[in-house]
Amino acid sequence: MHFDVIVRRGELIDGTGAPRYSADLGINGERIAAIGDLSAATATREIDAAGHIVAPGFIDSHTHDDAFVLSDPGVEPKVCQGVTTVIAGNCGISLAPLRAEQDVPQPLDLLGAWQTFRFASFADYLAALDAAPAAVNTVALVGHSTLRVRHMRDLQRAASAAEIAAMAADVREAMDAGAFGVSSGTFYPPAAAATQQELIDVCAPLRETGGVFATHLRDETAEIMASLEEAFAIGRALDVRVVLSHHKVAGKENHGRSVQTLARIDAQRALQPLCLDCHPYPATSTMLRADRIRQSSRVMLAWSKPHPELAGQDFHALLPRFGGSVEAAIEALRPAGAIYFVMDERDVERIFQHEMTMVGSDGLPNDARPHPRLWGTFPRVLGEFSRTRGLFPLEAAVRKMTGLTAEQFGIEARGHLKVGHYADLVVFDPARVIDRATFAEPTLRPEGIEHVFVNGEAVLAHAEPTGARPGRALRRPHARAAAPAANPDANPNTNPNAAAHA
Ligand SMILES: [Zn+2]
Repeated sequence: MHFDVIVRRGELIDGTGAPRYSADLGINGERIAAIGDLSAATATREIDAAGHIVAPGFIDSHTHDDAFVLSDPGVEPKVCQGVTTVIAGNCGISLAPLRAEQDVPQPLDLLGAWQTFRFASFADYLAALDAAPAAVNTVALVGHSTLRVRHMRDLQRAASAAEIAAMAADVREAMDAGAFGVSSGTFYPPAAAATQQELIDVCAPLRETGGVFATHLRDETAEIMASLEEAFAIGRALDVRVVLSHHKVAGKENHGRSVQTLARIDAQRALQPLCLDCHPYPATSTMLRADRIRQSSRVMLAWSKPHPELAGQDFHALLPRFGGSVEAAIEALRPAGAIYFVMDERDVERIFQHEMTMVGSDGLPNDARPHPRLWGTFPRVLGEFSRTRGLFPLEAAVRKMTGLTAEQFGIEARGHLKVGHYADLVVFDPARVIDRATFAEPTLRPEGIEHVFVNGEAVLAHAEPTGARPGRALRRPHARAAAPAANPDANPNTNPNAAAHA
């Protein structure tokens, strides 16, 4: 028996949450061809994985990489962490569809490269990714805020019936092209005036096509419970899975309330499919805005268009230079982005321990001084949260970045080590794997991630990017025509043993 690649003597963690086991793994072409004792088989390329973990390639459940996969197709911050698929188009912000001449308000500009990459349809965006592949696979959501910017001249009000119809037609086009769902971000100015009913009506095509509704909640502070109820109601009205993006309780007075939010989420899970994502840091990052500054114990400037030289500085230390007030400093610095220390570490740990929490970096690849989550999220969950703090076993950590995510988003034939699945793989050293990116030095590569394969091709070898770009723009097939129910327990991909290990 001959294989293109054999990964020998590794400990396999398969993405279901099941305990690791020793085996060789053979790849032919783009697929996993065999798992077991392959000592009698030969291969064109052999990797000795003794003492290492072999896992499914990591899926970054929450990214803003829509333009990054086109502008920087090597996608090194992700490849170096073992990420093989990124889910783009989150928080209501997607690169497509927008007309060429349209202005892009904050926070849509966080995607970067808007002037270079404009697509009048979602199909055009996916076709561009087909024509210029990245190192990783892309799963794309279509963003409600982007659709508002495309169809509404005045963003400070709820959409009219005609505008809703135009946005819903774009959702249908995106889903037909292969989008995996719709995202929303009513926390942000371009969508803050949207009502719950507007979201339901714009997303109406999901009733027929399936897909997820991923949401950056309207409020993650005092009104977190009401915001959760709104997300649940939208999911129920559409009969689709709700993804609660970067779940958090922000602001000192809300610290500890993850006990309350997770209990509410658990109660609701009996009635509708829900999942959440999170990154392993107590700080978040987004556009510069006064409310977030007030909720934070510390604020770092990530970028500023008029003052690029101030990236990395403490925001409050800059106040004297701009007249002393927070508002005056925002006015002088914007457009700008910042890193906000708003969460309690114990809340982050508790949210991470939840069995439905997926790992999502939320990294902003174009920031001058990015949040370290861009380069460190996945190794930090493995090395710091699992190994050092013991928050959960390594098998559960891997599940949160592989099988669980593939199941929740409906990504086919990825996320598990299984013969016939695509050969998206990571080989890492469980004793050494760790993030090195910090708030002071945010772009340091992690350690311990040794080999990464995407669709059977090596994109990282001996911890160095290979330059290969075998990634694909993944398309979600319409599931609804075949299977009308969106019951989480009916998902054929869900491993019945997973909960016990997670
Ligand atoms: Zn967000």
